[in-house]
Amino acid sequence: MRVIFYDEGSCDALRVDELAEEVQRVSGLVVEVRGEFVSEKRGTPYQFRTDEIGMVSLFFAKARVVDPLSRVQPEREPTPVEVAAERRALETPGRTSVGILYDGGAVQCLLGSMLPESALDDCHIAITGRLLGTYMADDRRWHAHTVLLGEPNIISTAGLVQAPARPREYYQGQAMATTRLVPREVVEAELQRRLANRMLLPDDPRLTQAAIGCALQAIAFHLTGEAFCEVPTCRLYNARRQEELIRSQCSPEAALCPKHEAFFRQLREAANE
Ligand SMILES: [Zn+2]
Repeated sequence: MRVIFYDEGSCDALRVDELAEEVQRVSGLVVEVRGEFVSEKRGTPYQFRTDEIGMVSLFFAKARVVDPLSRVQPEREPTPVEVAAERRALETPGRTSVGILYDGGAVQCLLGSMLPESALDDCHIAITGRLLGTYMADDRRWHAHTVLLGEPNIISTAGLVQAPARPREYYQGQAMATTRLVPREVVEAELQRRLANRMLLPDDPRLTQAAIGCALQAIAFHLTGEAFCEVPTCRLYNARRQEELIRSQCSPEAALCPKHEAFFRQLREAANE
């Protein structure tokens, strides 16, 4: 089994070589880094058949969540502008869509359909700047995720920043801003500066550490069907809040718990045999 990363290259702060090296060191597995997933699987964008890239662009446009409160999205035909934006993102290395939530299940299904049966022994991890969500029945709304587990696993750099809940002061500050005559960007910048040690920011160098944790979760899931750990300082902890994410991935106490340390040690020993 190999671990294969597919890097869209849309997040400058994510150091993919360091991510690959650390995953190799911890797991002992052979790790490869390839280009953006769709291009890798379908040939470079310029080698797409015209109808094929059109279909994939249309698919992404259709996978946009337009009503975050409704499980079933309204039946609609995406606009030509939306389809063209998706096409540009696919054809331009390093580009991604910003500020749009996609149906993560649909996107994972599309990418999964491009993986041949023979490739499924390997652990495939696509890295994207797209924000991916699933509908949660408990509070009846769509939620963004840091990582979607499955074939392929998908780590979302936008999700690492936006999915886990930010500190309460962040939301209080935002709410207060609406009552003050201060531009939203100014308040946002001030809050980000003030709370930087308690939440990940866009282009945050700590994104690499956080992505390493997601990749280890993906490997554990691939091999055992169990990705997450209950120990709040373990790299496999499923953080719901930014402060939990930073504690489990980027703080001095972040480390594999004894159980998962043993799990990865066994993997390394098996790989060395
Ligand atoms: Zn653990």
